[in-house]
Amino acid sequence: MAHYQNASLLVQSQHIKFDKKYPPGATVVHAGIYRCTGCGHEIVITNERMLPMQNQHRHAFEFGPVSWELIVCPVD
Ligand SMILES: [Zn+2]
Repeated sequence: MAHYQNASLLVQSQHIKFDKKYPPGATVVHAGIYRCTGCGHEIVITNERMLPMQNQHRHAFEFGPVSWELIVCPVD
């Protein structure tokens, strides 16, 4: 899970961009911290960058297929 020190510097959001799930290798338009919905591994992605390909992030079989979701993003 992502950590932070000062909660007053973060704002909870219900924006739809947090609902979307991305497959390996997808190009994302929102910079931020992405989390693998299977194993919880977190990565930082900058604007217009590609998420790890299938062979760049692997986890145990029991975690299911790799899928990424945005969990924290900077304010544009
Ligand atoms: Zn994973």
